[in-house]
Amino acid sequence: MIIVMKPHYTPQQLEGVVNVIKQHGLTPHITYGVETAIVAAVGEVNIPSLDPFEILDGVETVKRISQPFKLGSRQVHPENSVFPIDGFHVGGDDIVIIAGPCAVESKSQILETAHAVREAGANALRGGVFKPRTSPYAFQGLGEEGLEYLAEAREQTGMPIVVEIMSQVQLDLMLKYVDVFQVGARNMQNFNLLRMLGETRKSVLLKRGLSATIEELLMSAEYILAGGNKQVILCERGIRTFETSTRNTTDINAIPVLKNLTHLPVILDPSHATGHFDYVAPIARAGIAAGADGIIVEVHPDPAHAASDGKQSLKPEKFAEMVKQVKAIAEVMGRRIAPVNKPVTAGW
Ligand code: PEP
Ligand code: MN
Repeated sequence: MIIVMKPHYTPQQLEGVVNVIKQHGLTPHITYGVETAIVAAVGEVNIPSLDPFEILDGVETVKRISQPFKLGSRQVHPENSVFPIDGFHVGGDDIVIIAGPCAVESKSQILETAHAVREAGANALRGGVFKPRTSPYAFQGLGEEGLEYLAEAREQTGMPIVVEIMSQVQLDLMLKYVDVFQVGARNMQNFNLLRMLGETRKSVLLKRGLSATIEELLMSAEYILAGGNKQVILCERGIRTFETSTRNTTDINAIPVLKNLTHLPVILDPSHATGHFDYVAPIARAGIAAGADGIIVEVHPDPAHAASDGKQSLKPEKFAEMVKQVKAIAEVMGRRIAPVNKPVTAGW
């Protein structure tokens, strides 16, 4: 249920509304507007009538939220959610570029990649240290050693780091290092993990599951939002279809659909969506043209020898070219790539 307060409501009236919501066993979540406030009452709503809320002082309107996802819905929060990551904002007019290798493999590999992508205009550095590999015999990631290298890359380039978390047991360690938690496609419905991330106040990049519907993605985001963590970025990364020419099929529709349904930022991962370096730039361009708020792209200095996802990784020069094209598309869309204004503090 959404309760819209009258313009110039008083703090006491808002408190009254919050109290009645709690008396009904529901949890209030307040979104403050310029003159008004919207209070979402979420939980198991079994209230036959909205009357007890409509008669409260300071209340303008009361409506049921028709969608199953509540806090992520535009009904509850009509404006785009815009929030800061270190050095830039996501969800506003600026388009953000997250780039880096699939996995951190060595100190020299991540430092070289970090400097190259920063130079080309990236806003944040990605790199997995716990890798969700299909085979248990494949490279699983460097763990804490990889986090230390990422921290050094952040120190040198000023870029915040985006790292995948696979399990609750990794939380305490990762909290010390990461700026944005990535939840991978395979963990999109790991509800315990999502709840735990909802208790943190770090941004979460939530990827769409391999065969998940848009609504399921939004319901997963809801687990994080319900814990009070409002900084969720959704990521379309391709879905499984009957097509075998590419690793996945980019659901480009998902971008405008998500932008309609939710106020959360939506980004595209053209690397996993296509699985081949030849298709990454065209699909990145398409994503921005479709209204994505950013892209996350795999870049490797030596893709032929990458420990994972070499086939879909761009060499730094190709990445730089792609950024220029994305910039041009962004301008057509009346947007721009988030400026890089943090100085590089040390050379490599
Ligand atoms: C990744 O980002 O390297 C990754 C494993 O992505 P996804 O979860 O989308 O497969
Ligand atoms: Mn990968």
